[in-house]
Amino acid sequence: MNQFTYIDNRLYAEALSVMDITKEIATPFYLYSHTEITNNYHRFSQALNRLNTKVNCQICYAIKANSNQAILKTLALLGSGADVVSEGELQRALKAGIPASKIVFSGVGKTAQEISFALKSGILQFNVESEPELKRISKLSVALNLTANIAIRINPDIEADTHEKISTGKAENKFGIEHTRTKAIYAYAANLPGINVQGIDVHIGSQITSLAPFEETFKKIAELVTELLDEGHDIKVIDVGGGIGITYNPETDKQCDLQQYAELIHQYLSGLGCSIIVEPGRALLASAGLLVTQVNYVKTTPEKQFLILDAAMNDFARPSLYDAYHQILPVKQQSTLSSVYDIVGPVCETGDTFAKARELANIEQGDFLVIKDTGAYGSVMSSTYNTRPFIGEIMVKGDKFSTIRQPQALAELINKDLLPDWL
Ligand SMILES: *Cc1c(COP(=O)(O)O)cnc(C)c1O
Repeated sequence: MNQFTYIDNRLYAEALSVMDITKEIATPFYLYSHTEITNNYHRFSQALNRLNTKVNCQICYAIKANSNQAILKTLALLGSGADVVSEGELQRALKAGIPASKIVFSGVGKTAQEISFALKSGILQFNVESEPELKRISKLSVALNLTANIAIRINPDIEADTHEKISTGKAENKFGIEHTRTKAIYAYAANLPGINVQGIDVHIGSQITSLAPFEETFKKIAELVTELLDEGHDIKVIDVGGGIGITYNPETDKQCDLQQYAELIHQYLSGLGCSIIVEPGRALLASAGLLVTQVNYVKTTPEKQFLILDAAMNDFARPSLYDAYHQILPVKQQSTLSSVYDIVGPVCETGDTFAKARELANIEQGDFLVIKDTGAYGSVMSSTYNTRPFIGEIMVKGDKFSTIRQPQALAELINKDLLPDWL
């Protein structure tokens, strides 16, 4: 059960009334449910492990979805590893107590500094995306007298059936190495000093709700692993990436069944003698977060009614970036739907729109709303556009809540600017 429910027409986060929280915390702010994150993690790991195979499955949470220390620590305590895409994320993961032995490093643009830092940290695996990267890792690990455990990220040329900006597994995307060159790249990697080739990696995109692209991918990976084993490569790890979608719009979105997803992994991949890594981000975090906001104005024009919120695209970018649909709900529920609104932020761009033609009960200036399913790719994508400082974040557990990120002070934002001494 989702941890955000109405009781007597008041929205609750676990055992706390969101209205009561707004009396103590100024909007806008992100609110996360600790229990929801825990439940999502358990559902995922139970789906992977319910099939009672002896295959070792490790969840490496994709930190880019939400990298707050309190969230990482929550997942670390549940046994999660991490998928990181920068030194910053690696430092965050280590600081939150995720052991280096459970951390994989993905991304097409790893710098020499980042690679050296990861080598010294002793991470589980680099997911390598190109030959020049492979060469650089080899050179750096030799220089440090260390060995880099690597997997090659294969681009399987599969249509993920998702938004084009978050599709990563097509031949035209910048990610991975063409599947047709698998043998060649593994032969090349095997001969490089300082490199231990231990795995294969794939990630075809994000917010994928149909199982077909996953099935196609796993099938392809199984074929490739079989070939590589035949060639004498000691492939021990299969990293299937993340991408499992969630239901943002209950009326139109397909539901991605976790159990069936896990069964596909086992059907195609568990017979190969490898351990399996899964890198979910959105599936663990999205449903655990709300963006709590207040209606600053109700503006009526000849064409439309606008709700102008105190939150904006800089706080939450998904609707303007991907035309993403998010449910928007009142903190105090009224029974009848009676008005149609465009729900927008105050930023000076038409793209600063959270929802168009959304039907809600009559809303008044000062009412509180929540934008649902904002736990993943919410706060991490925020900016300070329009000189709007980063907003705060709180975490609820049962009947208590804590601030897990202070809102940025305006002075802190402005005082980073420096004047040249000749001005
Ligand atoms: C973004 C990303 C993920 C997580 O994707 P979700 O859709 O949030 O599950 C996993 N692996 C890699 C390499 C990624 O880039």
